[in-house]
Amino acid sequence: MDKIFPLSGKPIVVIGPMACEIEYIASRLDSPREVNFGGYHFTVGTVDDYPVIAARSLIGMVNSAVTTALAIREFDPAMSIIQGTAGGHDPERHKNDMILGERLVELGNFYTPHRDEGRRTRIEDWYTPGEEIMTDEGIRRFTTLFSDEELLEAAEETPYNAGKLVRGTIGSADLWNKEIDRIGYLHRIFESDAEEMEGFAVAQVCMEFGVPMIDIRIVSNSELYPEEVFSEDAGVICQEYVYRVIRHMIEKK
Ligand code: SAH
Repeated sequence: MDKIFPLSGKPIVVIGPMACEIEYIASRLDSPREVNFGGYHFTVGTVDDYPVIAARSLIGMVNSAVTTALAIREFDPAMSIIQGTAGGHDPERHKNDMILGERLVELGNFYTPHRDEGRRTRIEDWYTPGEEIMTDEGIRRFTTLFSDEELLEAAEETPYNAGKLVRGTIGSADLWNKEIDRIGYLHRIFESDAEEMEGFAVAQVCMEFGVPMIDIRIVSNSELYPEEVFSEDAGVICQEYVYRVIRHMIEKK
């Protein structure tokens, strides 16, 4: 793939599912223009005279996949950034830690083996077939997708002080897990740092269209620590960091 930096002039698309995960960035765009496709809302503007589009995807895998596909077809972006809140899986991750999703896995893509009536369910026996993606070699199945290395490096070059800044594995599904045993199991088999509901879906669509992407997530809650409960301000802290990442990307040679 061609090098991303210096940027070609194509827009940066930044996606946030909830208002607390996109409105701050949208408010920082100069010359904003609002565009809607169905219920999907895009603010088209600039940062330091460079085109940036803030997309509100709504929560979940389908919403974020549709938003990504629409953004790619309508705006032909240089990259897409999915960002927002996530729940901690790793005991070492705490509220306000920032995770750069080097690896993205899907926590809702399972086939179960046959079990007769009355036999209890065992998640340990499920397996992950992977999602179908059309590649140059035909249809392949992927259980792990990756954020783009150049984008990961650009994010790492941007200082973050509200918590740790680490590379890690982010899991996605239309699921909010609060069972400690299940969180522990998912963490063991996927080595997940945190879970959310969009990253893998965005990565899947981006891979299908050959668009580089990165998933940047702030830990907003951890079931492992009862005092670390979800709050919307984490979404704003994440956006403030991502806004600085975007400015750094724009000036990067
Ligand atoms: N107040 C909202 C909170 C939804 S949180 C409500 O009640 O519906 C769901 C969103 O936050 C998703 O977009 C997901 O990406 C993210 N998220 C934050 N913590 C999460 C967790 N522990 N598990 C799954 N998604 C989480």
